[in-house]
Amino acid sequence: MPKPMNFCPNCGAPVEFRVPDGDDRKRNICTATGEIFYDNPRNVVGCIVEHDQRILMCRRAIEPRLGFWTLPAGFLELGETMADGGARETREEAGAEVVDSQLFSMLDVTHIGQVHIFFRAGLAGQTYSAGPESEEVCFMREDEIEWEQLAFPTIHRTLERYFADRAAGRFDLHLETLGAADWNAMHLAGTPKY
Ligand SMILES: [Zn+2]
Repeated sequence: MPKPMNFCPNCGAPVEFRVPDGDDRKRNICTATGEIFYDNPRNVVGCIVEHDQRILMCRRAIEPRLGFWTLPAGFLELGETMADGGARETREEAGAEVVDSQLFSMLDVTHIGQVHIFFRAGLAGQTYSAGPESEEVCFMREDEIEWEQLAFPTIHRTLERYFADRAAGRFDLHLETLGAADWNAMHLAGTPKY
């Protein structure tokens, strides 16, 4: 369900929240021009950067989930491919360049209107460093991951699938749905350790 708007961002007229003719759900509609403002899910893109049997993890320096660990990821920008978005987020948050991005997981998070997409990628060069949104960036072995210290359920699920596939010697593409119950159960647990 989209959030009702008060005023039209284009002309300032009041906005109505109703079902347009021929539609089946409520939309924000400008009362002056009849323009309909559609609200659709947003895409989050990120990378599992692999190097020497380790993966690149970032500790968040910003809310939400400040102090928790995540894969480098963020909102896809207009005009950007998913792979380029994952590479950009990795550059911004972890100071690392990636090569050979391979689609690995796509997770529907319907109750918050998001799709999270992760690529496996190699590290180009040797450098990485914490960007402004990260307190700390490092490569971790599987046994160094603190599962209760992960920032988001989609990170948790993606890493579970990743390590299971790696142990099996074969990487598949994972299409998953995290419902509200899954999300809430995994999301609010834990306090960050320093
Ligand atoms: Zn308007």
